[in-house]
Amino acid sequence: MGSDLPGSWIREVRLRPGQVLGEQGEPLDTVYFLHGGVVSKLAIFQDGTEIECVLVGREGAVGAMAALGLRSGLTRDVCHTGGAASAVDAELFCSAVHNSSHMSGIVLGYCAWKMSCAIRNGACNAVHPIEQRLAKWILTCCDVLERSEISLSQEVFAKMLGAQRSSVNIILQRFRAEGLIELGRSRLTLVDRPRLIRRSCECYADLKAMELEIVSGAGDMREPGSRRPQEPRVWTVNGQIAPSVR
Ligand SMILES: [Zn+2]
Repeated sequence: MGSDLPGSWIREVRLRPGQVLGEQGEPLDTVYFLHGGVVSKLAIFQDGTEIECVLVGREGAVGAMAALGLRSGLTRDVCHTGGAASAVDAELFCSAVHNSSHMSGIVLGYCAWKMSCAIRNGACNAVHPIEQRLAKWILTCCDVLERSEISLSQEVFAKMLGAQRSSVNIILQRFRAEGLIELGRSRLTLVDRPRLIRRSCECYADLKAMELEIVSGAGDMREPGSRRPQEPRVWTVNGQIAPSVR
């Protein structure tokens, strides 16, 4: 993807943990390609309540919805882990997407995938119990980070799920006692992925299936009739479409 963007358009930036990259209702002026880490896209309510809609990591870009014509943010985008990112002016990004069938195929596929995640997560939040949602969140966060360790506090976990910290702590201790995870100071390690998947609601498996369908099929939008099963891919800033490590 980055290879389709002139180098002069890209600014290398350092992100801080807790940094807000975009605010709900405010101009969407920059697209960020994370080199690592994870960003939560949060819905904000008038009473200050925040709840996570979707996670973004190295596989995508924060602000990519600008390519759909969005001029203001739908969510508050909070960087959890900090680290390096490439930043591109949203208008320049849009012009590049609209002038490149290669970019538009990937970006539209990515946006469709993330919108599908947000829709499903909204329904999941309303229907499925916190234990299943927490299992799903751990699995999804590890997928986005592309590793089995999450360096976030339980307070952040609770906030993302719209749950009480005490409830999250009880469930995490249960998962630890069952050998599904290990817990350290502000650190969680996924130990037994297959068993944690079984503790998650059906949404995790459904979303992974959607990812395979939408993201892997993104290229097919440019080549009708060429659809074939593929591995999920990671959309990286340096222009490579790498096989997913998930
Ligand atoms: Zn669910």
